[in-house]
Amino acid sequence: MPLFEVPGWSVKADPVGESPNQASRKRKRNSEDSTGSEVNLDRLMNKLKRKPDKEHKASSSANKKQKAHEDKKNSISLPKALKGAEKRSTDVQRPPPKKKAKTKHLVESKSSDDSPLPSPQESAGLTEMQKQMRDSLNGARFRMINEKLYKTSSSEAHAMMQEDQTVFEEYHNGFRYQVQSWPTNPVEKYISALSSYPPKSVIVDLGCGDAALGRALLPRGLIVLSFDLISTNPFVIEADICNKLPLPGSEPDEDSMDKVEAQIVDVVVCALSLMGTNWPTCIREAWRVLRTGGELKIAEVASRFINVKQFISLVSSIGFRLSSKDDSNSHFTMFEFKKVARPKKTEADWTNLLEKGNLLKPCEYKRR
Ligand code: SAH
Repeated sequence: MPLFEVPGWSVKADPVGESPNQASRKRKRNSEDSTGSEVNLDRLMNKLKRKPDKEHKASSSANKKQKAHEDKKNSISLPKALKGAEKRSTDVQRPPPKKKAKTKHLVESKSSDDSPLPSPQESAGLTEMQKQMRDSLNGARFRMINEKLYKTSSSEAHAMMQEDQTVFEEYHNGFRYQVQSWPTNPVEKYISALSSYPPKSVIVDLGCGDAALGRALLPRGLIVLSFDLISTNPFVIEADICNKLPLPGSEPDEDSMDKVEAQIVDVVVCALSLMGTNWPTCIREAWRVLRTGGELKIAEVASRFINVKQFISLVSSIGFRLSSKDDSNSHFTMFEFKKVARPKKTEADWTNLLEKGNLLKPCEYKRR
């Protein structure tokens, strides 16, 4: 199965080459958020009856006429949209009422067992068609959250997750589902590479998701600090990694280019986590907390890069030197940087750097 291809949803190879027709269809699907459950059910039933490979061809003129109206509806805040979709999902499937995991404990139990999604219990009693409809709705919610994460600043994403933690859970359920179909997972590579580091090495995992790195490496004597937008399990510290990290460190001042005050981190890992439009600030924070000579490991979806050289140049300008680049994998590119001294930057410098966040394209997931 190709990367990201899962029932009902997948990522396209070229995240930006979207045709106007495709964009129009995306808006149409989002418009389902404000229609009644019966209409939604009809649409799903019709869609499910269609052959999957013909799905993209189904675009009616009536849909186009609704476009302006739909654009307006799409501007509603994501959590509310998701809540609406979730409610309809229940209407359509009519399973026994199931409490959403809003509490830490429920989220923890889902996160910690790494079970395939959805669980057998969640599928019990559903017909094949109902399962397809459920997957379709889950896929729609995942795509909406994903788009928000890649197309807004990290502070907006953080606020969205804080407003409704189920959004975070929905995203990670979808993410874990995706990971199962990948030929390789960057986190696995990092686990194996970092396992041989000296005990007590301090590793910071920025955008850790389920904290797979910490859960694997802490028992091996490494110190792993795992950060994500929401803390859903005991390994995770809540923080916006594109804002100030709750870690000691310092920026260079006028007198000292490589100020080493309070910097204790040996390795920073960013595995598929440079999502917000302000991601260069995350690299700045990595520099602030890393000790001199510390390592920055970045893995990103290969199709996100507009220009790999310019990406390397941007990271370098924040105070890093490229040690290695691995693009042998068709889906992910992995970079190893070392922290080097750099002069103090003005706020104007940082503003300019932030504007280069568009060097990484959003990774958009497309309905097949
Ligand atoms: N690194 C993990 C998870 C990757 S998914 C892995 O490879 O398995 C990307 C993760 O980055 C998500 O968990 C998302 O919530 C997190 N993320 C994205 N932007 C973030 C930000 N500004 N602050 C904290 N976490 C962020």
